[in-house]
Amino acid sequence: MAILKIVTLSDPILRVKCTPVAHIDKKMIKVAEDMVETMYAAPGVGLAANQVGLNFQLAVVDATRDPEKYGKNPIILFNPKILELSGKKTNEEGCLSIPGLFEEVTRAAKVKATYTDQNGKEQIVETDGLLAQALQHEIDHLNGKLYIDHLSSIKRNLIKKKFKKYRTHEAE
Ligand code: ZN
Repeated sequence: MAILKIVTLSDPILRVKCTPVAHIDKKMIKVAEDMVETMYAAPGVGLAANQVGLNFQLAVVDATRDPEKYGKNPIILFNPKILELSGKKTNEEGCLSIPGLFEEVTRAAKVKATYTDQNGKEQIVETDGLLAQALQHEIDHLNGKLYIDHLSSIKRNLIKKKFKKYRTHEAE
């Protein structure tokens, strides 16, 4: 397996609506496995394909609070779609493409979603908690949307500004 490079905020691929995956072949599964590896190495709760520069509908998540301690439980999702959203919950959220910054985001508390797994089987997941938050975050990514889009324009601009500053310092 390989660790992939994660693109950041300024990369236009994060704003692309990703293409559905028609065939889940060996090559696709290898990419998914590399994404899982990259997610754990970051470390993060989820990763979407466009975050590693690939514009197709593939995301990986593991909402286990501490995978090193409690065991890894990665979910590979091809062509995931939200079926139902209900309730509201505000949680702190971050993104591997906007490293080091966090904001409170209000999303649905419960999610019902469908996806195709690595065996080509249709799956339905109904969940709440961190997994519900992660699924909404990753499916947003595949639609070219970032968590900062859920914030007020003042907060969003502040994040962009902070991110720019962070990048400049990193380059020094
Ligand atoms: Zn993200």
